[in-house]
Amino acid sequence: MTRDACVLLDRADPLGAMRDQFVLDGGVIYLDGNSLGALSHPAIKQVRALLEAEWGRGLIRSWNEAGWIDAPRRIGDKLAALLGADPGEVIVADNTSVNLFKLLAGAARLRPERPVILTEVETFPTDLYLAAGVVDLLGGGREVRAVPRTELRESLDGRVALLMLTHVDYCSGYMHDMRALTEAAHHAGALVLWDLSHSAGAVPLNLNACAVDLAVGCGYKYLNGGPGAPAYLYVSRHLQPEMRSPLWGWMGHASPFDFSPTYAPGDGIARYLCGTPPMLAMAALEAALDLWLSVDLETAWRKSRALSELLIRLVDERGADLGFSVASPRDPWVRGSHVAIRHPEGYRIMRALIARGVIGDFRPPDLMRLALTPLYTRFVDVWDAVDRLVEVVAGRAYEAPPYAQRLAVT
Ligand SMILES: *Cc1c(COP(=O)(O)O)cnc(C)c1O
Repeated sequence: MTRDACVLLDRADPLGAMRDQFVLDGGVIYLDGNSLGALSHPAIKQVRALLEAEWGRGLIRSWNEAGWIDAPRRIGDKLAALLGADPGEVIVADNTSVNLFKLLAGAARLRPERPVILTEVETFPTDLYLAAGVVDLLGGGREVRAVPRTELRESLDGRVALLMLTHVDYCSGYMHDMRALTEAAHHAGALVLWDLSHSAGAVPLNLNACAVDLAVGCGYKYLNGGPGAPAYLYVSRHLQPEMRSPLWGWMGHASPFDFSPTYAPGDGIARYLCGTPPMLAMAALEAALDLWLSVDLETAWRKSRALSELLIRLVDERGADLGFSVASPRDPWVRGSHVAIRHPEGYRIMRALIARGVIGDFRPPDLMRLALTPLYTRFVDVWDAVDRLVEVVAGRAYEAPPYAQRLAVT
């Protein structure tokens, strides 16, 4: 492999032109789209239009005239296309943590005779915290059972109400077999909740084909919705009539503008709304999703796999002697769209790399994460990133004192 070969790959890339839709500084190689997706030009345009025309001139009329009031449902329907769900099964609201609370509590109460929420010890902490909080709130002998990945299947017994898993692991990038685990959970009589924060916009998804009951995920990672973008939740059509949200907000009421003193849950997915949607943030997310819907998804997944295969190959070829090892699965079919690289000096190396314009991130104890987002990453970026990675370690640049100091956000 050579840099010239990477240039040729970029020239042949059917998604090459998509990069121009993003605001990317030419001096920066951005490989952190799994933490915060890049800003797109359509998002700027849409937020500006919302500010100037819809809020500025339209004022309160825009709730009707600009379709603000329908935004959670409308944007949810757009997202459904990326998730392999039907319109009416996805809604955009709140953040992932709050949506986890709604679905965890809702699901636990659908299986009151089963006390266990089963999950994986290595899952993203907020998922563990929210499950523990729901168990604490609902009581009744409920418990969270967090087991190693290898023990998930044998732990699916008649006491499990819900299996909650992160589909793509935020550290290693390991991707669960959604179809097989959903089937195993159903076989045991449990419901399933998938956290898709590192999946949507990163890997192919088909929630309906996998018979998934519940799902949540982030808007600000691969979907490029912006910092703190609204998140989403999915409730399968078959569960919608019986399941309730524990948060009885007015926006989830069957008719909010009747101002009735008693709560009546809205139909279907609408009942998972709680309060007023944040329209500035919704506008940015909707523009970003429209970009996603303009690309052929199979082409995007193919490119994402090709980029990560290239990164792994270059790290193997050039980094092994310098102490780097690939911590992500080598099989692209069980891996998400980021690659974790292990090095005992990972934190300092990542800081030195960022100082040299290659932006990835770090997860303790020793993982550097590099995301290969298919909409704006080039093959030549992967080449140049590995080049600088090698340079930083071979030349010991990471030993400069400032890099040892931990920042608030890594
Ligand atoms: C990023 C991420 C979250 C983030 O939750 P927020 O409430 O949006 O901060 C939750 N779960 C997983 C698996 C994540 O990767």
